[in-house]
Amino acid sequence: MIEYVNPFFRPPSEAKSFILQATIGCSHNNCTYCAMYRKEEQKFRVRPMDEIKEIIDTATQSDLIDDRVFIADGNALVLSKKKLIEIMDYLKEKNPGIERIRMYANVGDILRQGTSNLKELKEHGLDMVYIGFESGDDIVLERIKKGANHEQTVSASLILKEAGIMNSAMVLLGMGGTDRSLEHAEATGKLLTSCDPEYVGALSLQVRPGAPLYEEMERGEFELPNKFQLVKELEVLVQNTELTDGYFFSNHISNYLPIKAKFPEDKERVLAEIRTVLESGDESLLRPDYYRDVINQY
Ligand code: SF4
Repeated sequence: MIEYVNPFFRPPSEAKSFILQATIGCSHNNCTYCAMYRKEEQKFRVRPMDEIKEIIDTATQSDLIDDRVFIADGNALVLSKKKLIEIMDYLKEKNPGIERIRMYANVGDILRQGTSNLKELKEHGLDMVYIGFESGDDIVLERIKKGANHEQTVSASLILKEAGIMNSAMVLLGMGGTDRSLEHAEATGKLLTSCDPEYVGALSLQVRPGAPLYEEMERGEFELPNKFQLVKELEVLVQNTELTDGYFFSNHISNYLPIKAKFPEDKERVLAEIRTVLESGDESLLRPDYYRDVINQY
């Protein structure tokens, strides 16, 4: 029986992965919109190596590990290169069928690891990291206490490219509030263009109790854009995004308008689709609100 500290999170694309909770919580845990790891029992800590190996042993004996592993929680790349290599080597020694190992990472983790560590991590199995870019607008990034600015995010993305590790970037529609809605969308598209990730997931911000931003909203200091403003942000975001060879998704259930596109070839098609919806002003073309009520943010 594997004991998880709940709740834990994983990207939707890791649904078939074994989740190895090598760390608990997020070492940053300061983003104002995030309520993921606010419980006392989720306070950031690293599991001792013998405990991690015990979990791997149990999972192996119970046949829970197939070809994919996601190392949790919020930013497992914060672990030292030595520890990560020990974990990945042990995983693969016990489960030779493992083909991919992935994790969440903060921009600061990538900058700290640097190209040479990341190249080694890649050699030992790490093939992709998921990063919450959220916005490309430095004013917004500062406001939400993301802990990384536009330029640092570009540098981290270049390091990943040099190391040969794929970059899956998440951005949040609505993160600029009503006052910086379009600036946020434009700067985020430009950030994506500079970073050129292999995958982009655009989600719509949902502010939950427990997040400092929730208090700001209650005090009237932050206002979420309405559904058509969010679709407008999607249009501006797509318009400003150039990817050399990447996938752009807004099919997360938090979004009012799901799109799936391969860039660059599908860009004009999806822009036309978004504009048709905007021009119609027809709410029935958007996902109903109740979809958004039943999900976790990531
Ligand atoms: S959004 Fe990510 S980096 Fe920010 S506090 Fe939450 S888990 Fe940590």
